[in-house]
Amino acid sequence: MIKGYQKELSLIYENIRLEEQKKLEIRRKEIEEKYPEILEFDNLIQKKSLNLTLSILKGISEEEIKNIREEITDLRFKKYEALVAKGYDPEYLNLRYQCQKCKDQGFIGNKRCSCYKQKLINLYYKDSDLKENLKTNNFNNLDLSLFPNYKISDDKYTPRRNIENIVKYFKEEFIPNFNNMDENILFYGNSGTGKTFLSCCIAKELLDNGHLVVYRTIDELIKNLREIIFENNHELEDLLINCDFLIIDDLGAEQITDFSTTEFFNLLNKKLLKKKKMLVSTNLSLSDISKIYTERISSRLLGNFKLYKFYSEDIRIQLNLKKR
Ligand SMILES: [Zn+2]
Repeated sequence: MIKGYQKELSLIYENIRLEEQKKLEIRRKEIEEKYPEILEFDNLIQKKSLNLTLSILKGISEEEIKNIREEITDLRFKKYEALVAKGYDPEYLNLRYQCQKCKDQGFIGNKRCSCYKQKLINLYYKDSDLKENLKTNNFNNLDLSLFPNYKISDDKYTPRRNIENIVKYFKEEFIPNFNNMDENILFYGNSGTGKTFLSCCIAKELLDNGHLVVYRTIDELIKNLREIIFENNHELEDLLINCDFLIIDDLGAEQITDFSTTEFFNLLNKKLLKKKKMLVSTNLSLSDISKIYTERISSRLLGNFKLYKFYSEDIRIQLNLKKR
């Protein structure tokens, strides 16, 4: 779990800036040795820029400011010309940024830059157990042949056809159009019917597409909610509420208490109000959900989520049989 990820991220940015500063020093050294006259331009520019700042503070006239600025611009062009004449990039002696938009600050004003989110995803990916899990649980390893192609219940489709329909929907609609999707997902059905596996496939695709996906079993989630309430962990709250996609696995496996139902409801509600998407999976049937949870929770799960029923013979048993 990335507790304190904001600190870790600001450290990452600090290191990027230091790294670029070092690279610049190396380039300056090189030019100093080969073409000291070019570096002299650079030193003059820096000196004049510093003087300009001091002079402005002292209150010199607009006219004088303009003159000094022109001198600096003139020197800059001379430097560029000299660099190009020796076969260098004109910006060779300038500090470079890995992200031009925020100049490696991570923020533009007080708004997070897009590079910040990407770094957060990488950090999250790196730290989470998900990484190991997703090496095997992804669409490449999804074996639809494990689902029988004959009817095992009164359901309209065979298990194979049912899972094919679900996979097709997520691969062709939900994942490619994720940003425009305004839809929460409920996977329900017996254990061993592929719900967790498919949740992981979806998580991997979305993470790879640059979306911040957070994956929690219901037990982990309730533990996190305790941390948020009793230890005031605001970063964790921010992560759970504002991530692009929260996957809650195995609803119904938790010990149900006043705390768990109240706080789970609060989380659901906050996310629904903020239109932050979720995927909940459960081994419970829809009628179990309405029996076990408060009306407030079940009406949200059944009313605000798109329902996908999973059914099959137990896939894990099938898989083991196949291995033998
Ligand atoms: Zn940026």
